[in-house]
Amino acid sequence: MSTFKFAGGAARLRARPWNWLFAGLAGGLAVSAWLGLLMVRRLSPLGQLSDAVRRHQFIVAYQPIVDLETRRCVGAEALVRWKQNNRVVRPDHFIPLAEHRGLIQAITDQVFDTILFELGEFLQRYREMYVSINLSAPDLVTRRFLDRLTPALAEAGISPQQIRIEATERCFLDADAAKEVIQAFRDAGHPVYIDDFGTGYSSLSHLQNFQVDVLKIDKSFVDTVGQDAASSSVASHIVDMAQTLGVQVVAEGIEHEEQACYLHARGAQFGQGWLFSEPLSAPDFIRYVGRALVTV
Ligand code: C2E
Ligand code: CA
Ligand code: CA
Repeated sequence: MSTFKFAGGAARLRARPWNWLFAGLAGGLAVSAWLGLLMVRRLSPLGQLSDAVRRHQFIVAYQPIVDLETRRCVGAEALVRWKQNNRVVRPDHFIPLAEHRGLIQAITDQVFDTILFELGEFLQRYREMYVSINLSAPDLVTRRFLDRLTPALAEAGISPQQIRIEATERCFLDADAAKEVIQAFRDAGHPVYIDDFGTGYSSLSHLQNFQVDVLKIDKSFVDTVGQDAASSSVASHIVDMAQTLGVQVVAEGIEHEEQACYLHARGAQFGQGWLFSEPLSAPDFIRYVGRALVTV
């Protein structure tokens, strides 16, 4: 019995270097597979975007909105950009992914924090100026963002009407929730805009369901103003509708003087587009407003 035990122990001893080798190989393979997976995940678009959210890699550009009658700047739309190393990524390239993978609310918060940091003092000083923020569907399902906005603005001494909300029809998928949250924003003093108006399938039905303050005419309708296209009169019809409903109009994507004149003549109060200014950094936006105040 003891001879057998001794023989078995010796065999295990002889086999041990192989055991170690196999165990080592298996361990090494597992670690490199895990590292590989980690790398793939980090290098994937989602991994990079999650990283950007963690590292606060977003910047905000401000596009002036002007009164079409006086051509004075009345405020700006905040447009997010992703500063990825040395390149700047436009929102169309990452907002859909952020919306799809649950990152958009963190981005909305960072945009708001940036506005407060960069333009807080400016908004305190110029009480009639405002900044509008683009929200996504998840921002309009609950009051989470409003609950964040309210105390932060009170502390900064900025009035609620200086921070406005832009929502596209894509935000209204959960119509009941969106209706309630939109009303809560309005009750708290934040004007609400319907963005890209006319491009969705149910623009008119939304007007019946949601009380809003401003319609933004989509650039695609402004582009065809003065052209011989079937859609060239849509912008004008939207202005008529807005007047009937008692809401204001911002026409976006105005690039030519004729478009500005036509839209103003039809009754649109405000405009935004390269004719007036491209989106600017915060210091450039403040300079832009200062210049306009001097020249008007
Ligand atoms: P949008 O809300 O319709 O914003 C207007 C877009 O038109 C902006 O593009 C702006 O730079 C561009 N634009 C303005 N005037 C002109 C013009 O005269 N000519 C031309 N060709 N373009 C003009 P941008 O900054 O690339 O934003 C694209 C979209 O990304 C926005 O469309 C908005 O839907 C979304 N977005 C931007 N910022 C945010 C954000 O902070 N949160 C969310 N959820 N979405 C955002
Ligand atoms: Ca917008
Ligand atoms: Ca728009």
